[in-house]
Amino acid sequence: MVHHSILNSIGNTPIIRLSRLFDDPRCEVLAKLEMANPGGSVKDRPARYIVERGLAEGSIRPNAHIVESSSGNLAIALAMVCRIHGLSFTAVVDPKISPTNLHIIRCYGGKVDIVTEKDSQGGYLETRIKRVKHLLHEQPNRVWINQYANKRNWQSHYHGEGEEILRQLDRPADYLVLGVSTSGTLHGIARRLREAWPELKIVAVDAVGSVLFGTPPYPRDLPGIGASRVPELLQRDEITQVIHIDDYQSATACRQLVAREGIFAGGSSGSVIAAIQHLSAGLSRPARILTILPDRGDRYLDTVYDDDWLARMQERHLIRTTDISINATTGQTI
Ligand code: PMP
Repeated sequence: MVHHSILNSIGNTPIIRLSRLFDDPRCEVLAKLEMANPGGSVKDRPARYIVERGLAEGSIRPNAHIVESSSGNLAIALAMVCRIHGLSFTAVVDPKISPTNLHIIRCYGGKVDIVTEKDSQGGYLETRIKRVKHLLHEQPNRVWINQYANKRNWQSHYHGEGEEILRQLDRPADYLVLGVSTSGTLHGIARRLREAWPELKIVAVDAVGSVLFGTPPYPRDLPGIGASRVPELLQRDEITQVIHIDDYQSATACRQLVAREGIFAGGSSGSVIAAIQHLSAGLSRPARILTILPDRGDRYLDTVYDDDWLARMQERHLIRTTDISINATTGQTI
């Protein structure tokens, strides 16, 4: 089949059984490789869906200038989608953006607006949102994607991975284990799968130090999962269980994934693998566990795959897991 543009090659990602890393025949672990999308991540789906739906209904005009606060995969995906549709795109980022991502966004032709002032929390989140609102106010053709509140975010995964999984699998999974940030991926896939498989248990994987599920902030380096505010999209009552994983645990599991399965993945893939290792150790019956590997390893050469960084994260992990005063406040954390 010949595609008319790179955007038509988004989706139809493969599912791989991770039988080398999880070799207990009673525990079948299946991973859908969202890293195989052309922009390199699971965020290609919402970027395309939100922009194309907006263009079709007229809320995004052909001369629109798309704006979003993102320094990671969504910014890269939007830069790619906007290129094909002839739209301008600005990513509002902060100084913590990785030089690689900054470069990739610019390669796709996206503009980058870097805020430098810290907010009242000592981070950049509020400053970034303020900057987005300022940009919108400045020119009427600017449109904010607003991934944390935009329903089309989860809907893209409902019609995307959710639909595809039901076509790809011959029988239901028992558990769906997914990393969470905006919660769009989790809710979209979970809502579609539960229509067909009502017994499916939904396990959310959050980063230690994220405030998504009411645990206190703590230093964390890896982008992808976790958030420093609770997104409007998150519906806690649709989630069966939450597992927190720290940067060291994520990186260690990423290294196992490439060593055993030959899958070179990003930090949040390690987070879900570490969570499944924890979950499967406590199972009393055979189970089929389904997960998503959201992005590739290339953007993590300076973190996950760097030995000095890993040593620093190990130190932080040891302090966290041995300090009772921190431990007592971090909730359900492994
Ligand atoms: N993993 C990676 C690598 C991501 O970039 C994201 C999106 N920030 C997620 C997981 C979580 O996806 P969502 O925002 O849909 O919860």
